[in-house]
Amino acid sequence: MKISSIECHVLLDPGCDIGATSSAQDDIVVEIHTDEGLTGIGETDVNPWIAAACIEAPGTHTMGLGLKEMLIGADPLDVEALWERMYVGTAMNGRRGAVIHAIGALDMALHDLRAKAAGKPCYEFLGGAARDSIIPYASLQPEVGSFEEYRESLVAWARKARALGFKAAKAEVTPCGPYAHKGLRATHHQMTGVIRDVRDAVGMDFTLMVDVQYAFPDADTCLSAIREWREFDLFFVETPLPSDDLAGYYRVATEQPIPIAAGEWLATRFEFLDLMDRGKVQVAQPDIGRVGGLTEAKRVCDLAKIRGLTIVPHLWKTAISIAAAAHLAAATPHCAFIEFLPAELCESGLRKELATANLEMKDGKLSLPAGPGLGVTLNREAMARFEEEASRRWATNRSFSGSAKPA
Ligand SMILES: [Mg+2]
Repeated sequence: MKISSIECHVLLDPGCDIGATSSAQDDIVVEIHTDEGLTGIGETDVNPWIAAACIEAPGTHTMGLGLKEMLIGADPLDVEALWERMYVGTAMNGRRGAVIHAIGALDMALHDLRAKAAGKPCYEFLGGAARDSIIPYASLQPEVGSFEEYRESLVAWARKARALGFKAAKAEVTPCGPYAHKGLRATHHQMTGVIRDVRDAVGMDFTLMVDVQYAFPDADTCLSAIREWREFDLFFVETPLPSDDLAGYYRVATEQPIPIAAGEWLATRFEFLDLMDRGKVQVAQPDIGRVGGLTEAKRVCDLAKIRGLTIVPHLWKTAISIAAAAHLAAATPHCAFIEFLPAELCESGLRKELATANLEMKDGKLSLPAGPGLGVTLNREAMARFEEEASRRWATNRSFSGSAKPA
């Protein structure tokens, strides 16, 4: 079997608001086709026009080869060898960042293809089933315009998550810092009040995580704020500090008792080694697309296992990434939860409509994902609509650049 063509679908939600704090408003879906008629599907979480350029750009020299060029004609079943070929062949442009995130979408599609060719679920190629079920958690991030509305919506959504049967939820409490939702502004002390309200709403017999999305500028500010949060029995606090402040992470992770989680933006196991060994976080959160695909996410899981750390994959994309995370979790006993959002708790139309995965929650648990492959079905009508919206936005942007030139 040989790879015959690769398609990149750049997608945008018609409601896309660049002032909103959600990367679920855009997407890139790749389809890898073979000469035997099989197709693999993958996606990744990075600006989709940038990812498409990373994949489609022709190469110019031996250490700056084109991703698409390297894959056309190759045997798609050789997944790990192709990862190495892509990593080495793009080394002068890649190694970290957008090129690795783009490789992530291709690698996810290759895993889908290989497992489909074998008629098996993807997790069979990630080490096989290591558990009977997976526990999903609901990520709660209402999109509203004021702090009071945010507090009320978050409490209402937490109650709803519990009513839907979830055993765990994560509150996105970000009224300050670079990720502040739609310009919400509140103090660190007010954040404590929101967490208290959410904890009161769900009760103590419910797993609660908090994501503060880089809210604190430094370790001292973070430590003085989150020491107040001990009473809330949080499973973790996610990304309290700027991503590159590993010395700060070390202090926050070792000078107070709440476990610290991070890793959603990182590319490759090498960045995770820094986060785990220098930053000393207790929970590693690879985003499967961004880290470099299922091949690289599995390596991160193995490195975390040796260190006795917990895995909770990050994902903020569609059912394609949810399925990939479910397959990774199926083969990873130290993966405590996966992020999982039912349509009732989701704002993005793109996220709700683009794809479906065969995953149903029962008693707060998901059974292992069925194959073959990732077990994902694309909604072609929705994909065409989101692709059209992306083309429209691109055309508008080009005409804006043109008219901005001096006469
Ligand atoms: Mg996060």
